[in-house]
Amino acid sequence: MSNPEKNILMLPGDGIGPEVMGQLRRIIDWLGQHRNFNAKITMGLAGGAAIDAHGTPITDATMDDAMRADVVLLGAVGGPKWDNLPFAQKPERGLLRLRKDLGLFANIRPAYVFDALVDASSLKPNLVQGLDIIILRELTGGVYFGEPRGIETLANGDKRGFNTQVYTTPEIDRIARVGFELAGKRRKLVHSVEKANVMESGVLWREIVSKIHAKDFPTIELQHMYADNCAMQLVRRPKQFDVIVTDNLFGDILSDCAAMLTGSLGMLPSASLGAADAKGHRRAMYEPVHGSAPDIAGQNIANPLATILSFTMALRYSFNLDGLADQVENAIKAVLARGLRTADIYSAGTSKISTSAMGDAILGELGK
Ligand code: NAD
Repeated sequence: MSNPEKNILMLPGDGIGPEVMGQLRRIIDWLGQHRNFNAKITMGLAGGAAIDAHGTPITDATMDDAMRADVVLLGAVGGPKWDNLPFAQKPERGLLRLRKDLGLFANIRPAYVFDALVDASSLKPNLVQGLDIIILRELTGGVYFGEPRGIETLANGDKRGFNTQVYTTPEIDRIARVGFELAGKRRKLVHSVEKANVMESGVLWREIVSKIHAKDFPTIELQHMYADNCAMQLVRRPKQFDVIVTDNLFGDILSDCAAMLTGSLGMLPSASLGAADAKGHRRAMYEPVHGSAPDIAGQNIANPLATILSFTMALRYSFNLDGLADQVENAIKAVLARGLRTADIYSAGTSKISTSAMGDAILGELGK
């Protein structure tokens, strides 16, 4: 079977980024040696690390590498050292440029509860045991980008702040397709979430999603839900969902809500995908949801699992290597089942281990 080279750009970034990415690198190297995973890894700087080295949060050369890569794996950017820079020069601008130039419009945020961590959720165990859902958020449109926007002074001296919620047919079409495709690989259920009862953009959203469903994805079940009800249902009965597809604003809120069903920030991966090219290949960036955690950086205590789980998403969504993704995820499950925990997910009766010991334990399980 052909085994084309996978071109991977790794951008560890700042704070705990290099520590957690270091553990991921060990796993990728192991897969190369033992599972024939044919990767060409390029390392690059992003965020504060790039500011310190080059005076910019991401260089044009790194952007060229990102445009050529099959996938970009990002750690995290930012930290107090760079907090006082002007907005346009901050580490986060590097991240925004990556998202914008790669055209990453589809943000996939899984909320998955490992059996061993069921007690870490703020919900009752029976509500979250076995939870495995995805929030798919439109990332480049809607009210965060819509024009007109601004703050104006009215004739009577009062001020008026305004933003515009706007979606076009192609924007809704492409995010809906990603949602149906994801569901097709899972339990074949999509909830499309908007506020069609009070917003015209929601009426159009519902109309387009329904059309694409009827035309191209009739075997997937589609349900429409208002965003306020979805927020309620997420904490009431989260297991009723499979894939939730929604806009930028509602997705921002609902994905954070869903994230907390799972317990710890150190466990949450994400993927951001661009448009498919002629061969069906999408530009993609994978990163943990958490930030650079400056409070614990350099101490070898950060949880590397969100970063490693982001990579297993890359194995599934960019490389179609579900079998390898399963192997890595099963190794993580086995490590957690043995009671091994980094500090953020530690509880009485389990064993607290370091970042690198977590890497060792996963490699140990993979080798069994
Ligand atoms: P954060 O996610 O970095 O940290 C929040 C809390 O969670 C901290 O107490 C931290 O120690 C803990 N935490 C986070 N990840 C962890 C892990 N893997 N293991 C164990 N504990 C973990 O958020 P913050 O403190 O608000 O932001 C810190 C910096 O990160 C800021 O500069 C912020 O701008 C940046 N940030 C970057 C990204 C990104 O790169 N995508 C995302 C969010 C925040």
